[in-house]
Amino acid sequence: MNLITVDSKQTMRVLPQLVPDTACFRCDVCCRFPEVDSFLRPYFTSSEINDAVAHGIPESFFPDKSGTQVDLVKNTIGEGYFCPAFNSKSGRCGIYDVRPLDCQLYPLALMWDASGREVLLGWDSKCPFMRDAPSSAIREYGERVATFFADEAIVEAIVAHPRLIGRFQEDVVVLKALPHLTVRLGPEPVDPQLRPLTLSDAPRVAKALEQAQVLRHDTPAAFAFPYHYIWTSLLPYWWMESDHTLFLFAESPDGWFMPLPPLGARPLDQAVEQAFVLMRSWNGPSPVSRIENVMASQRNLLECDGIQFRQKEGDYLYSVGALAALAGDHYKSQRALCNRAAREQAITSVPYRADYQADCALLYRRWAEQKRRGNLDQMGKLLLEDAEMAHALVFQEHERIGLSGTVLRVNHDIAAYTFGYWLTPQTWCILLEVADRSIPGLAQWVFRETCRTAMSQGAVYINAMDDAGLPGLRAAKLAYRPSAVLDAWVITRMTT
Ligand code: SF4
Repeated sequence: MNLITVDSKQTMRVLPQLVPDTACFRCDVCCRFPEVDSFLRPYFTSSEINDAVAHGIPESFFPDKSGTQVDLVKNTIGEGYFCPAFNSKSGRCGIYDVRPLDCQLYPLALMWDASGREVLLGWDSKCPFMRDAPSSAIREYGERVATFFADEAIVEAIVAHPRLIGRFQEDVVVLKALPHLTVRLGPEPVDPQLRPLTLSDAPRVAKALEQAQVLRHDTPAAFAFPYHYIWTSLLPYWWMESDHTLFLFAESPDGWFMPLPPLGARPLDQAVEQAFVLMRSWNGPSPVSRIENVMASQRNLLECDGIQFRQKEGDYLYSVGALAALAGDHYKSQRALCNRAAREQAITSVPYRADYQADCALLYRRWAEQKRRGNLDQMGKLLLEDAEMAHALVFQEHERIGLSGTVLRVNHDIAAYTFGYWLTPQTWCILLEVADRSIPGLAQWVFRETCRTAMSQGAVYINAMDDAGLPGLRAAKLAYRPSAVLDAWVITRMTT
């Protein structure tokens, strides 16, 4: 057995391992401790205690059956102490298949930052294997493990056992912050009304969108829960409700902003005023206080002396019929590429399933590397790094986020995937679409198939999101002849 069970109701995915068994057996760092009350003793959750007891570890080693660090046994032939599951003769864990998450994670570690405000993932420089491992391999492994901690079931399990997050250790090298865990476990938010945005908030956001009466076929794609939720793996997102209006906030390293205007039945100008008062109280006079994705129909309601508007990149909206057909001279090159892909490759498509996760993650990395090697500026490279966690979150939670996905195989290997959502019954939004760039025409073929599928399900329009300010993406999106590029603004409020 090689599964993590964190409580009796949940069986979790396998945590990938970097250090080979052979290296572990030669090493004398793990499972041994200098003091009887070492703060590095492994933490066992209640179900992990049950598993350990069922595998022969006496219950008496677990002072709190609801979750505890294990008591140690004295090394009778030398110095220090052992974990009671450790077999000092063989140098092996006696409960290896059911060892706790804390041990599976090592030599990575979850810990608080030095100020105790942020949850971090790092690697322990006491591990000899890790000290010699290439930093690229450690970084890549850290990314894989970080996606594991984006899984909602794992987050809930850790929330139930917050002592799985250890205290800050200077000899643990930080790999990345885990905002998903920080918002759930960190210090009280700046305002007691704020709540972390979680998957269970999807219906509340949908209701607020309905009450605000903002959804039309040409509403920007940002007016939907999935658009924001996928970035919670990168930034803490919070929401609050006031006077039947929902306020969505994101907490960037620079300060607080709203990724979407307030949603509700309340007059928009009043709600926006309240939002800026709140952000000013959290950010001070910093210009980071802003509201993004204000759409054209809302701009008229907000025109006044104090509000400044800055146009942002708009979403590209297309007629689905045009993209499904790709007829006429305008689409000659895209059509030729689709035909080439169909002629040269055996392409099949199937709905996305959770067991495609690892292959899709590998494809993302391959695709990102292909893009980096292409004509991509620094901003584009940073966006690719940020997007990896968002894609990983979608692989794990697509259904609960409200996304439908398809994977495309070329000669049996996964070579493309696409995920999207219905903004309205007429408009299908393509949130993520990745295709192996080494296969000529595949990206065009996938885009056309996505449009054909959406059309067969009733779509009239395709929203392909904005171009993130990237010139290459802009040219590609314009080449498909959008029926509109949707106006959207970022607003700030002058301080008096
Ligand atoms: S449970 Fe196993 S792996 Fe974990 S500290 Fe004890 S002996 Fe080592």
